[in-house]
Amino acid sequence: MHPQRQLLSARDIKVHFPVKPGGANGNAKRVSAVNGVSFDVYRGETLGLVGESGCGKTTLGRALLRLGHGIVTGRMSFDGQDLSNLDAGGFRQLRKKMQMIFQDPFGSLNPRLTVGQMLSEVLAVHRIAKGEEARKRTFELLDLVGLNREYANRYPHEFSGGQRQRVGIARALAVGPEFIICDEPVSALDVSIQSQIINLLKDLQRDLGLTYLFIAHDLSVVEYISDRVAVMYLGKIVEITSSEELYSNPLHPYTRALLSAVPIPDPDAKRERTLLKGDLPGPLNIPSGCSFHPRCPVAKPECGRKEPLLRPLAEHTEHQVSCLLYE
Ligand code: SF4
Repeated sequence: MHPQRQLLSARDIKVHFPVKPGGANGNAKRVSAVNGVSFDVYRGETLGLVGESGCGKTTLGRALLRLGHGIVTGRMSFDGQDLSNLDAGGFRQLRKKMQMIFQDPFGSLNPRLTVGQMLSEVLAVHRIAKGEEARKRTFELLDLVGLNREYANRYPHEFSGGQRQRVGIARALAVGPEFIICDEPVSALDVSIQSQIINLLKDLQRDLGLTYLFIAHDLSVVEYISDRVAVMYLGKIVEITSSEELYSNPLHPYTRALLSAVPIPDPDAKRERTLLKGDLPGPLNIPSGCSFHPRCPVAKPECGRKEPLLRPLAEHTEHQVSCLLYE
């Protein structure tokens, strides 16, 4: 069970990108990548954030750390501190507590620095350690992520994909964070390496008391690591509940379709696959009413007119869903 203490709170977060005026009337348009998302992340838990590529989950993760280019609105607090009015300097201080691990560790590592130099640089920039102290801390970080201390002298291209992700994790840990956004950290890795990295993240969470927002496009990846899971579709959360509840009692037709595609380890067990109609619509053409209605296998006529809200199924339940079938 996760402790019911919010570390991060996000309310009505929207992210949009202005696009150049086009056409005869020259009207400016904007693309909404995140459309009013509210959630809490409790201290010490892992909240999985799942959805198809293009649903806005990575944009949301970056917006929480002010890393994206879009225009972000909404309210956010971290450890009880309201971040809405925090200036750039104040936010930079806080960023030590909030780190990100990226899908492509190679792209996020400087190819001209050895791992030891890169970690020492992070420690120096954040005034955590320098000289001999930084060298010692670098070795401790390599120990923490299961890399040989001799690897401090190697360059990123000398590592395998899994080792590079370990380096990426060491870099995030260097500043002593409390909260880490893991953005598809295992998507580019072989299945056997994926479980090693997920186990490492779980061990680090237990030993260092970390809190994760774990972003993935695949429900099978988040099942093992998440305490709760939020499912996103076209810039909105459509279902959120505990991991156990989501996998045993999925309610939103989109969650059900995603789950039907997850392979079952037992070769004799069968699961009926729900195939969704069409592709994910682009963010410039978000359908009216329930944005899932053109693809929903159980849509009703009113689904194209009325927008469902994310709400708890009943009083005192954590299970929230946005679908007219449950209103
Ligand atoms: Fe499907 Fe209608 Fe529910 Fe949307 S509101 S998920 S279209 S049944």
